[in-house]
Amino acid sequence: MKIAFLGLGDIGSLMAAHLAREPFELVVWNRTQSKADKFAGIYKARVASTPADAVRGADVVITCLPSSVEVEAVLHGENGMLEALRKGAVLVDCTSGDPPTSRSIAAELGGRGVEFIDAPVSGGTTAAKSGSLTVMWGGEITVFERVRPVMEAFGKKIVHAGPVGAGDALKAVNNALLAVHILSAAEGLAILVKAGVDPKVGLDVINASSGRSNSSENLIPQRVITRAFPRTFRLALLEKDIGIAAVMAEDLSVKTPIISLTAERFHEAREKLGEQADHVEAVKIVEQENDVEIK
Ligand code: NDP
Repeated sequence: MKIAFLGLGDIGSLMAAHLAREPFELVVWNRTQSKADKFAGIYKARVASTPADAVRGADVVITCLPSSVEVEAVLHGENGMLEALRKGAVLVDCTSGDPPTSRSIAAELGGRGVEFIDAPVSGGTTAAKSGSLTVMWGGEITVFERVRPVMEAFGKKIVHAGPVGAGDALKAVNNALLAVHILSAAEGLAILVKAGVDPKVGLDVINASSGRSNSSENLIPQRVITRAFPRTFRLALLEKDIGIAAVMAEDLSVKTPIISLTAERFHEAREKLGEQADHVEAVKIVEQENDVEIK
């Protein structure tokens, strides 16, 4: 099976690594070609010079780009995928994209005999490395069956969310909750620091109680208390995800004041901390405003 993988970023490169083996024949493309060359130095893959070159003759094309804006650009831009995708190919977009753009791409490709599935992932770089990502996909079951072995190469829990766009919708809501939990846990711990309670003791109790979340159980102990703040998932990408959820809420007339406020706070955090900051560094705005360190 011929696979083209476009977008060798923090998570894309780890996902593509699982496809660099039989029965797959892998071609990779990355905007910054040195990253693709480095990848092909380690794994069995051909480096394509353009998106069109990557997808020509491919059975399955996977995109893993920051947002649907870049997917559109790689599709329609100069030497883009559109003209080179063969009839019968499937585009699996693992970007955490936005539902309306995914639906419009699916409609456009459908007119050319190319299938589309939105298939965002969760589990972060750790699950990507071990090939145990959760994949939430939107589209037709008959199309999914054709790409199942590809998704199973990097995914463990693979869930049909609904029609095209449903995977993106579910991912945006999951990540909106992640963003809320990061900031709310940081705020709670800032209160405890000021109240003279050791945040490690606070976490120990919270994690045995009903206030716990992935942020309190994993992210804060491993990355904030230790002050390690490793870069695994850019804050700018989480801001994008919570923004998608906020727009969906508006479009669907769902009142979501907590998600809207968290979206504003992540926008502020991105302005202060920059494009390369990790998502967990958002706690730093809570720390700075309150003159505390959670450690
Ligand atoms: P990164 O920011 O690490 O990588 C982004 C990739 O997109 C790079 O390959 C980059 O190329 C490429 N790119 C950026 N802009 C363009 C453009 N205009 N045209 C073509 N290529 C472009 O992102 P991640 O790998 O972390 O994330 C990819 C997707 O997966 C995102 O939608 C993210 O939300 C999602 N995701 C990420 C997770 C994580 O833990 N990191 C977890 C779950 C989902 P270049 O090398 O040239 O910059």
